[in-house]
Amino acid sequence: MVELSNGVAVVTGAGSGIGRQTAEEFGERGAAVVGADVDVEGGEETVSRIESAGGEARFVEADVTDPEQTEAMVAVALEEFGRLDFAFNNAGIGGPQTPIQETDPEDWQTVVDINLVGVFNSMHAELDAMQDQEEGGVIVNNSSVLGQVGFEGASGYVAAKHGVLGLTKTAALENGETGVRINAISPGFIDTPLLEEGGITSDPAVRDAIEGRHAMNRLGDPAEISSAVVWLCSDEASFVTGETLAVDGGYLSQ
Ligand code: NAP
Repeated sequence: MVELSNGVAVVTGAGSGIGRQTAEEFGERGAAVVGADVDVEGGEETVSRIESAGGEARFVEADVTDPEQTEAMVAVALEEFGRLDFAFNNAGIGGPQTPIQETDPEDWQTVVDINLVGVFNSMHAELDAMQDQEEGGVIVNNSSVLGQVGFEGASGYVAAKHGVLGLTKTAALENGETGVRINAISPGFIDTPLLEEGGITSDPAVRDAIEGRHAMNRLGDPAEISSAVVWLCSDEASFVTGETLAVDGGYLSQ
């Protein structure tokens, strides 16, 4: 069993889906959690779930596209819990589902701002705090299988998620000797509100087609992602940095 006792974790996009599940799992494994989100109600609900299970957590309203807000998020971890050991940079949106020429450039930019610039802003704030500690820290960035292959109608999302992998590798190189490990995960399609809002799980025919792109012919569960994130954060992954871990039911094997 992976133990993260006495650690402090920041999770962006903690108010829903994969972020909520991972925040709860950090709490179950003994870490204090700072959950950040633009969704105040969702974020507060995550915090109360962690507390009800006996863990410690704080919510901070933070939009990852604003570097001042990601700085403030890390400041809450330091002020409330004294340190920052783990960060799961997960906040993201699906964005438009249209071919490039039919995509509004402003909508495209918004997807890149949240899904890619948001990860840069988060790491920009987290790295100083982790480098200042003798024990270092661990960052996991949430990419996607669509960070490794294309997907028709999702150019902004695909470009941003590919970018997250480049950022992750560069951060790992810059931090090889600072004691901070930085990795990414590439989930396959996971059953969360994001897929429902994107019309994937709300339409049985679309759901079937998407399931069929996975060798295991099903969607993933958020808990199948959170267990990979906490493993990457643990000492069991002490020689893993700059890596992308696909947790995708075989999506990328085809
Ligand atoms: P989700 O259930 O929609 O959760 C995402 C959370 O992030 C929501 O609470 C959302 O708030 C929040 N958020 C959006 N913009 C934000 C911002 N600017 N700053 C801070 N928080 C923000 O989605 P999910 O499926 O768990 O996705 C989480 C991450 O996993 C995303 O990066 C996504 O790309 C990635 N991922 C998901 C899948 C999948 O199939 N579900 C697969 C691969 C990768 P609002 O609801 O108010 O927007």
